[in-house]
Amino acid sequence: MSTTSTAAASATDRSEAARAFLADFRSMSTFGATAGGGVDRQAGTAADGQTRNWFRGLVEGHGFEVRYDAVGNQFALLELIPGAPYVAMGSHLDSQPLGGRFDGAYGVLTAAHAAIRLKEAAQGAKFNIAVINWFNEEGCRFKPSMMGSSVFTGKLPAEQVLETTDPHGTTVREALESIGTIGDFSLDVAAYLEIHIEQGRSLEDDGLTIGLVESTWGANKYEFVVHGEQAHTGATVIADRHDALLGASLLVAAARDIADEFSTEEHAVITSCGEFTVFPNSPVVVASRVNLLVDLRSTDPDVLAAADAELHRRVAAIEQRASVEIKRGAEHVWASKAYDASGMKLAAASADKLGLPYGTVRTLAGHDSTNMKDIVPTIMLFVPSVEGISHNEKELTSDEDMLAGVDLFTELLGRVARGEFV
Ligand SMILES: [Zn+2]
Repeated sequence: MSTTSTAAASATDRSEAARAFLADFRSMSTFGATAGGGVDRQAGTAADGQTRNWFRGLVEGHGFEVRYDAVGNQFALLELIPGAPYVAMGSHLDSQPLGGRFDGAYGVLTAAHAAIRLKEAAQGAKFNIAVINWFNEEGCRFKPSMMGSSVFTGKLPAEQVLETTDPHGTTVREALESIGTIGDFSLDVAAYLEIHIEQGRSLEDDGLTIGLVESTWGANKYEFVVHGEQAHTGATVIADRHDALLGASLLVAAARDIADEFSTEEHAVITSCGEFTVFPNSPVVVASRVNLLVDLRSTDPDVLAAADAELHRRVAAIEQRASVEIKRGAEHVWASKAYDASGMKLAAASADKLGLPYGTVRTLAGHDSTNMKDIVPTIMLFVPSVEGISHNEKELTSDEDMLAGVDLFTELLGRVARGEFV
């Protein structure tokens, strides 16, 4: 065969592989699809179960074996060399309520397609391949987020996770049993790779296709409960009120003020309140209690510590001003930490080979790789999010950028499988 016809044949293979990826992405996005163009696949719901079963069918059709561990992490195993250690890749198929189609799901499907492509050209591979769909990365129905990978990496006990309840009292164990995705599998992995949408706008702003993630931001997430006293909104004079809603509102505003006050040119502080529940939430009743979640994030541990201390100092002042009691409940904290530098170099060499423009980025959001990088050498990559929109039905990554990410991930996986990383 001439060089020209070989090149033409491989271009045809590439476009067939690209079409197959986009077709699978469209099929996957029908599960839990919402009217606004997004998906609603909260962990352990019927829609999550349907997506997991679809994924199982997809990979089994390509010769993978599917297993589940005790907290519902889904492992698709591709054995290339019997007895060899595993390189794992993954992300998550669960979503936020009214979430986007790309968050997590893009990474799981890309990992599967990279493995399928590797299988067809596996000469020189020294590892077997696992694609992992981590249970409950999002942490909306069951808290905390990154639940499955936290258990896998020994940061949370499985028993505690299984007894965790959603707002209706359903446990994780019951939810996993209801969708039939619980087992007793376990796996040792030698290295971990993840690709995800950026969920920010730095790649788009800089005209880049690929982000090499160099570190996570530190994050402190707290559950607060503001206790007041239920009263009549008209008949109770202001001086006698213990208004939990006022206290909680002051806490939300304080968190925002802290972001403004503590951010510097070099180190931003980002704060939010993403969940806020008022009791009894009735039009003529002064609130007796508010549950809220506040999170603070920064790239710099000292700046984060200073912002955190200020938040706690203000809690005491808010208690006085609103005449309420504020209690801090569960916390979920992770430190700013670097990804493996040699992994970033390997990803950069892979991008160079494919001629893809790339740059280094930091991740503001937590990902399953945030946990995995603490136990094995880990590489994390991003593809652009249009206008940085995420956790929103309008979340979008172009077909072109998705396919560039699949090509790069395939190239990178090939190198890792041949032993160029670990
Ligand atoms: Zn995600």
